[in-house]
Amino acid sequence: MTSPSFTFPHRHLLGIEGLAPHEISGLLDLSDVYVEKNRSADRKSVALRGMTVINLFFENSTRTRTSFELAGKRLGADVINMQVAASSVAKGETLIDTAMTLNAMHIDVLVVRHADSGAVKLLSEKVNCAVINGGDGSHEHPTQALLDALTIRRRKGHLDGLTVAICGDVLHSRVARSNIYLLNTMGARVRLVAPRTLLPAQAERMGVEVFHDMVAGLRDVDIVMMLRLQNERMRGNVIPSIREYFHFFGLDYAKLRVAKPDALIMHPGPMNRGVEIDSDVADDVERSLIREQVEMGVAVRMACLELLTQNLSRGNS
Ligand code: ASP
Repeated sequence: MTSPSFTFPHRHLLGIEGLAPHEISGLLDLSDVYVEKNRSADRKSVALRGMTVINLFFENSTRTRTSFELAGKRLGADVINMQVAASSVAKGETLIDTAMTLNAMHIDVLVVRHADSGAVKLLSEKVNCAVINGGDGSHEHPTQALLDALTIRRRKGHLDGLTVAICGDVLHSRVARSNIYLLNTMGARVRLVAPRTLLPAQAERMGVEVFHDMVAGLRDVDIVMMLRLQNERMRGNVIPSIREYFHFFGLDYAKLRVAKPDALIMHPGPMNRGVEIDSDVADDVERSLIREQVEMGVAVRMACLELLTQNLSRGNS
């Protein structure tokens, strides 16, 4: 399926940080091919025939796990979902022991989600298979940023020169971090719009503009990307109340008015309607890309699986 001119030179996909623009474009180009294939009657291919993909999720997931499962199956692989709570981890087996056990079964790809930033990288150093980061703590979620980029590129035709506002709980968001790396690498301008308590220290150092007011931050943007309040990662109270948060930082039509007239709305899911986003805005068929993002997720994950398994036979490191 891949064009002979493009090879992905990495053994694992642990993050967007460090990927070159042509590597991101190559991944998106192959994803485009899979979007069309997924829309056709002939969705199955054999790129991963005989291979095994294990989804090892230590944190909850709906979209990411399901779409990796679908992606692997559409490419002809055997896909196994490991229920961590029901596994040996619950009996005290360490992360590394679990990885080594799976590794001994000669699997080809391990997709890992873990609550600790850096856990997926650590695991990748211990196994022979390709490892894909399905989200590690508040660090990175590379396939989410790739699917977001694919969604934007297909709608706007390009990424460079666009202004993208990432709004809400940036501090705890791996989605924000991966998107910042990707959008900066591809020549887009990134704004972060959030209360001070939900921004990392010295956020400006990430090559972004920072706003604490939605109306100022959304002015003339092309894309508004909303983030969930990630209560599970919060320590203490970081917002006064949900009502007040929605009033100042929730996306509704009144705040959206200052964005470009053709500005599009995104959200990685799961959404908290009425907290960070108004339901009418989220369901706006003209402007909301939220369902399209989910569709793009399957295609992006197929592209990642194909490129990384090609590397296995080439022996890239
Ligand atoms: N699903 C995304 C993630 O796993 C975003 C979120 O949970 O809010 O990071």
